[in-house]
Amino acid sequence: MDFDDTPEEAAYRARVRATLEERDADLLHVRPGQSADARRYEAELRATERVLAEAGLVGVTWPREYGGQGGTLVQQAIVAQELARARVPTLVNHIGIGMCGPTVIAHGSDDQRQRYLARLLRADDVWCQLFSEPASGSDLAALRTSAVRDGEDWVVNGQKVWTTLAHVADYGILLTRTDPERPKHAGLTMFVVDMHAPGVTVRPLRQMSGDAGFNEVFFDDVRIPDGERLGEPGEGWRVALTTLMNERVAIGGAGSDIGQSAEALAAHARDRLPALGAEQQVLARQAVGRALVASLATRYTGYRRFTTLSQGGVPGPEASAGKLGGTAAARLVADAGVRLLGDEAVLGATADGDETWQRAQAYVPGVAIAGGTDQVLRNILGERVLGLPPEPRTDKAAPFSSSGARR
Ligand SMILES: Cc1cc2nc3c(=O)[nH]c(=O)nc-3n(C[C@H](O)[C@H](O)[C@H](O)COP(=O)(O)OP(=O)(O)OC[C@H]3O[C@@H](n4cnc5c(N)ncnc54)[C@H](O)[C@@H]3O)c2cc1C
Repeated sequence: MDFDDTPEEAAYRARVRATLEERDADLLHVRPGQSADARRYEAELRATERVLAEAGLVGVTWPREYGGQGGTLVQQAIVAQELARARVPTLVNHIGIGMCGPTVIAHGSDDQRQRYLARLLRADDVWCQLFSEPASGSDLAALRTSAVRDGEDWVVNGQKVWTTLAHVADYGILLTRTDPERPKHAGLTMFVVDMHAPGVTVRPLRQMSGDAGFNEVFFDDVRIPDGERLGEPGEGWRVALTTLMNERVAIGGAGSDIGQSAEALAAHARDRLPALGAEQQVLARQAVGRALVASLATRYTGYRRFTTLSQGGVPGPEASAGKLGGTAAARLVADAGVRLLGDEAVLGATADGDETWQRAQAYVPGVAIAGGTDQVLRNILGERVLGLPPEPRTDKAAPFSSSGARR
């Protein structure tokens, strides 16, 4: 395939780059840990996202009627690459834009699309994804949070966990069990939930990086109007698959942070290598070389997936392979970055206060879990690409209530 921009793509890229240069002063190039407190950091990220939305750089492929640009996937990838190049921080509403919004577009009512989507793109509302529970992560369809119909409402009880951004979110997409007598995949229903509704309690969880980016969320008799349902009752798994497919593509996508990290690593190596002792230099050079090769392999594999998408295809196992490879590359990049710090690697930040590489190393193990663990992705590749016999799934057809997992 041809990796160069077509003349139209090159013109679009030049326009995006010029816009970013023009608005540079309004884009707060904040990094985690630099702001006085988490609330202020979040407000700064929201403000940055609003500037980008006004400049037409958020929701590039979304329909114009919902605040998007009606653009192509290639244009979206170009914007992602240029944002990374300009070192604009990850959008605060990345889960809303990458996963919740596309789910509302595909399965929401007109009323929901009108009410939610334009506000989401401008980060007026931040969204989160309420799927995982203490006893169901990889086996998501075994979830237990219940929604019971009561007049015009549904009443929700249960607990979610690892919910990224719930502590700042205004809305979430919530997967619940509405019919425990049906097999586990068939008794689920999806809703939009107001995170400020009575009965919703959010408790942040502290990670080893020191941040508290994800949370436990408790639902105690939370009432959700039936008009906030996404899809039909019992159709929740189909709706969730839309979210999950978008998630894997968003995490492993072409033009993602991985390529940019490789460039950052190369610059870091040029800066740091001369200061290391002879023995440390040899090891660091090998680590940097391995990491750069893995990053390039991920980037080009991403382009292949991207070609499928831009030709109207649906990413299949290549989305899983992309995420798996991307995680492995990210780990090598982070490890090499820390190795280059020499003795300063044992400190939380370098002498000049930079935490970039220590943070990256603390963050990567989570990437290997979020959006499908490495092991689960390998199962998918084994079954769907290599044609290996599937795992035994004894509970697939049985009513969920007979599985012993009911609350
Ligand atoms: C940084 C981060 C952000 C997250 N954000 C969100 C979020 O916003 N919303 C949300 O809903 N969830 C979120 N999650 C949760 C994430 O989706 C789950 O952690 C993930 O699906 C794994 O589920 P689990 O933690 O329950 O682990 P488990 O599924 O219990 O897995 C435990 C171990 O068993 C292995 N394993 C499980 N099943 C199999 C199998 N069939 N074959 C082989 N090995 C297996 C796994 O690979 C893993 O090593 C986030 C997680 C992280 C780390």
